Amino acid sequence: MSNEPTLGALIRAQASLYADKTALRFNGVDLSYGELDSRASRIANGLIARGYAPGDRIGYLGKNDPLYYELLFGAAKAGIVMVPLNWRLADAEIDWIVRDAAIRWLVAGDGFAERYGASRADATPLLVKAGDVPAWRDSQSGSDPSTSVADSDVAVQLYTSGTTGRPKGAMLTHRNLLVYRALPSEEQPAWNRFTDDDVSLIVMPVFHIGGTGFGIQTLAAGATGLVDSEFDAGRILDFVEHERLSKIFVVPSALQMLVRHPRARKVDYSRIRTILYGASPIPLALLREAMDVFRCGFVQMYGMTETSGTICALTPDDHDPDGNPRMTSAGRPMMPGIEIRIQGQDGAILPAGETGEVAVRAPLVMAGYWRQPEATADVLSPDGWFRTGDAGYLDADGYLFIQDRVKDMIVSGGENVYPAEVEAVLFEHPDVAEVAVIGVPSDTWGEEVKAIVAPKPGRAPDTAEMIAWARKRIAGYKLPKSIDLIEKLPRGPTGKVLRRELRAPFWEGRERKVN
Ligand code: ATP
Ligand code: MG
Repeated sequence: MSNEPTLGALIRAQASLYADKTALRFNGVDLSYGELDSRASRIANGLIARGYAPGDRIGYLGKNDPLYYELLFGAAKAGIVMVPLNWRLADAEIDWIVRDAAIRWLVAGDGFAERYGASRADATPLLVKAGDVPAWRDSQSGSDPSTSVADSDVAVQLYTSGTTGRPKGAMLTHRNLLVYRALPSEEQPAWNRFTDDDVSLIVMPVFHIGGTGFGIQTLAAGATGLVDSEFDAGRILDFVEHERLSKIFVVPSALQMLVRHPRARKVDYSRIRTILYGASPIPLALLREAMDVFRCGFVQMYGMTETSGTICALTPDDHDPDGNPRMTSAGRPMMPGIEIRIQGQDGAILPAGETGEVAVRAPLVMAGYWRQPEATADVLSPDGWFRTGDAGYLDADGYLFIQDRVKDMIVSGGENVYPAEVEAVLFEHPDVAEVAVIGVPSDTWGEEVKAIVAPKPGRAPDTAEMIAWARKRIAGYKLPKSIDLIEKLPRGPTGKVLRRELRAPFWEGRERKVN
């Protein structure tokens, strides 16, 4: 590996080490490291020939496809910033990001060029169909461009998931993305080591740090990435049976669909070494169920867009289902150099056991939010500490327990209630398929706890019985005062429950105080 951690240098180095090895596999077609590197060079040269300069932004609007990684490394070689766009957003939201990021050239996958192009009133940026890229690419020179790119340059501008509000463009530098991912295997934590024949599933969307980051991680390790366009539990079980999949990274809601699939207990999982999960809280009951089905190493990842991905990990050794209290923790800093602390509202550093806002200082913290100096200054202090917006505490051994998002915490009668804790309890009720807990206005308590439950198919739960059932399991002030039934919870692009959407009708015309 090169000492200079840029994406361009990385793929160049990997191509010389693993020229003919499969870097990415998609729909049965293999793309070698050598070919990925040369395609990236062609794209870089093509972009330079078009007049794009370092610091310009290009976009990709489409489902997971190896083309995204060609564009990512190609842009990187030319010092151009890649902006992957969330195709699940509405046209107006996509348009907002395209304008916010000042994207000059946008590659759109199948169907998206027509959809997005049709909704636009003017012709900027230049919209290119993904299907037209290969011919253009292959007419460019394949020699490595000579653009000088520094590890402190921005490589990717990734928009946050928009769970708590409008997405923000997090500027991630080459160093942010590679400082840990490009370390040699022996310097990686044991759970993050790859062997030569590892095959990892890249199904987390590339517009999320999970997809972009896991893809880069796989390629930095010289392993093979099996790219899938979209999550489909049955197809993943097929991959487990027919591809040599060994590492899977999914979000908890996807893990639930996998373990509840009718074929889930009929598949041979002996090749799977590690299942990584993260991006939102996981109910303990679901984690136990998944461990029982897959019987492989589990790793919980905790991190966010602004930290280029994982900052803390709960390792396979800590996944001990027999009463280990750490099973509900997000683990410890993944690497030396990642510092975690808990801050009070006044910024004071809190001791072990006390809940406050989780803050992190590490070389993977973003350079800032694009064109939002105030929002950046609000979360990123001059001495490098980044406020995550998550509430949590550290135990005496430095394990981090995430309680919930600060914005979602319910203050009821002066007591703090973390929705995730209440959700985890209700999730164990036999009738519950999905559950979200929110704060709704109350004249007596300020806010009161309300649960929204999607029952399992064919069940019609009695909500009063459900509250009585919960009463035996959680403190009275955390108990939902009411439960509404719903068919399906609203979720964001990576399966996170959109509590703000559930909350909105109850708060119409009133302002909700956020701590
Ligand atoms: P936005 O910032 O736009 O509101 P978002 O925070 O959901 O959206 P991401 O950066 O994709 O955008 O998600 C990071 C957040 O996801 C974390 O701040 C945390 O709240 C949650 N999260 C990530 N990993 C875990 C985990 N292992 N356990 C619990 N929550 C997690
Ligand atoms: Mg966030």
